[in-house]
Amino acid sequence: MTTRPLNPRPLITWDNSSPQFPLSNLPLQDSLSFTAMGFLFTDFKGWKEYTLKHELSLYETVLEYEQEQKGHEAAEVWEGLQKAYDVMREAVETGLSEDMTSRSGMINSGAKKVFNNPTTVLSKEFQNLVSRALAAKEVNSCMGRVVAAPTAGASGILPGTLYTLQEIHGLEDRKVLEGLLVGAGIALIIEQRASLAGAVGGCQAETGSAAAMASGAIVYCLGGDVDQVFNAVAITIQCMLGLVCDPVAGLVEVPCVVRNASAAAIANSSAQIALSNVSAVIPVDECIEAMGEVGQSMENRYKETALGGLAATKTGQAISKKVLIQDIEILPGDDAKE
Ligand code: SF4
Repeated sequence: MTTRPLNPRPLITWDNSSPQFPLSNLPLQDSLSFTAMGFLFTDFKGWKEYTLKHELSLYETVLEYEQEQKGHEAAEVWEGLQKAYDVMREAVETGLSEDMTSRSGMINSGAKKVFNNPTTVLSKEFQNLVSRALAAKEVNSCMGRVVAAPTAGASGILPGTLYTLQEIHGLEDRKVLEGLLVGAGIALIIEQRASLAGAVGGCQAETGSAAAMASGAIVYCLGGDVDQVFNAVAITIQCMLGLVCDPVAGLVEVPCVVRNASAAAIANSSAQIALSNVSAVIPVDECIEAMGEVGQSMENRYKETALGGLAATKTGQAISKKVLIQDIEILPGDDAKE
């Protein structure tokens, strides 16, 4: 038996200060009629069965969920998606054009350095992908505006991936927005079966989930079928499994920023593998189950507590002390109270 989530929430959110965009002029067929009980994103097997039974595409199922569970009109959903994608692109561009130095000093316009480096490891496209994922995440680390898809810690992966995908393949925004809906459906299932939060399931839950969303979106946008989309998710999860959350000084900077770049690369390699019909062997639902099991058994020091991993290294501890002293120095003193 399936149960409705008590508090369904959007998986793609954006800062409330985002500018308002005009409502999309969508054709009527983009608005799906309500069903008594749509699919509740409990598992991937069920999602595939639901799409086949109701002759819906993956993105249409998520659109139906948004309408049914949150009472949104289809036009509102498309408007929100467009707004989210615009903020993602803006974050990429800001990160590549403005000074990105965080207060701790750990982040120091790395994205720009990668983007402008004349030495290209694989191709200019790969260099662009890496620098764009870094750029959007650096904006987050410098307190700028990003889309938390699914979390702020992983906010560079979808922007870097989708921006680059759209540029290479000349995709219309509409196709990318459909990909975002597919990504949201993937996240809904991961949220129910495992977790999207580093504090609950380690970094695999944050950057791993974002990479899975991105990989599924890439395969969808390039015309992959349902099995290929889900296979991309399974392969991505297999590659990200076990990654711990160990932010230095408790700041979402190191290793978070570089992990956004590596997760974007994994999303693309997984999509390439899945589109070639190379099987993940372990079905996607079982991969998510494994992710949940690994997250549950992870010690607390690897769950955003900054007590283990890189945060616990000698250098990590020294940075932590420095950041703490900085914070004490900027606390309001007695003068400020008068
Ligand atoms: S290390 Fe932790 S805080 Fe940083 S991105 Fe991963 S889950 Fe988020």
